[in-house]
Amino acid sequence: MRLSKLASEITESPTFALNEEARQLRERGEAVINLGIGEPRNKTPLAAVIASAAKLTSGEVKYVAPDGLPSLKKAVIRYTAENYDRMVAPENVLITNGAKQSLFNIFYSILNPKDEVIVLAPYWVSYRQMIKMCMGVPVIVTPKDGTFTPRIEEIESVVTSSTRAIIVNSPNNPSGVIYPSELIEKIVNLCEQKNIFMICDDIYHKLTFDNNKAIPAYRFMKHDIESSNIIVVNGVAKLYGMTGFRVGWVVAPRELVRVMTNVTVQITSGVSPISQAAAEGALTGVQSMVEALRLHIQNNRDVLLQELKSFNGIRLIEPQGTFYALPNICAFSQNSVEVSKLLLQKARVVVVPGKEFGMEGHIRISYAGSVNDVTEGLDRIKWALDPTSPNEIYIGDKRMVRDWL
Ligand code: PMP
Repeated sequence: MRLSKLASEITESPTFALNEEARQLRERGEAVINLGIGEPRNKTPLAAVIASAAKLTSGEVKYVAPDGLPSLKKAVIRYTAENYDRMVAPENVLITNGAKQSLFNIFYSILNPKDEVIVLAPYWVSYRQMIKMCMGVPVIVTPKDGTFTPRIEEIESVVTSSTRAIIVNSPNNPSGVIYPSELIEKIVNLCEQKNIFMICDDIYHKLTFDNNKAIPAYRFMKHDIESSNIIVVNGVAKLYGMTGFRVGWVVAPRELVRVMTNVTVQITSGVSPISQAAAEGALTGVQSMVEALRLHIQNNRDVLLQELKSFNGIRLIEPQGTFYALPNICAFSQNSVEVSKLLLQKARVVVVPGKEFGMEGHIRISYAGSVNDVTEGLDRIKWALDPTSPNEIYIGDKRMVRDWL
């Protein structure tokens, strides 16, 4: 079969294969714990349910404005004013099918073939693939000091005349680190000087722990939004645990939003009004669940840190936000795909290989689920990898003996 070279080069992710194996094991009644998935398990906020149900029962579910319902845009404008201290206009906002489509549309709208986008490792898996799908070239910056925070010199050193953008995801998936505000300021300045876009993937910006805060790039913006290079992406998936509604948004100069809207018209004609009503309900409803979710996740993070303390050999840079941790497992193996396979096959725990995020020798552990999943999952990982832990455990009612260390 002759297929597109570009599409065929989009690699299947090991995560997909692991999830499929986990599903099959679960179907066979195995007690699999999923520490792979980045999805809080809370119920949809009531205000979102009511708003989307009202839209549905109206029976008026038709095509809507491709750039988003004016009332949802208004809610996003208010969100931007409250959280970013910036007043933007409806023409600066585009509503999309999840933050994923925001990002794809951005790359599609700013890149010409062979243009470069700087991606900071560890990075969210989809950036590289999306950039390639838009004929661009991802240029990866990996911190040389073994941390998850690049130095500005490392970023500067890869800027060329083909650089069109840098993507910044802080708090960061998969490491949970928050970039220091000085770094954000330096990236804003660099982007202004070199006239390149700074794409801020702020999808986890409210999921921060202790007194850490993710300082928005807008804080350091010297121009007004129309002449600024800053693009902000956000959405309801992580903020309210509304992953299935598929609503995200972009805040950007209106010239870019106009081009992105034209792209949207040709591809999706916009987002379902049922989902948009839900997002509007969530944004304008009672916000207490955002803090409740944050506290739940922070508690899970604390439990994870406690569990890891007694884990010989594993090293972790403490997550300051998101619901992920990226421990270094080099003491056991450099090969994160093999370790992830072993953990699923022997300990029935799903984790994601760090290789996917440009950080071989690490595994990503999600603590978005229940506290029981975190404790039991970590106990199993410890049992599988740490030779000082007891030689056998029970998984469900099955006795498992460790015979590979
Ligand atoms: N950016 C990052 C860093 C993410 O982790 C995710 C979801 N895992 C997204 C964007 C996409 O979010 P959405 O579900 O709104 O498409």
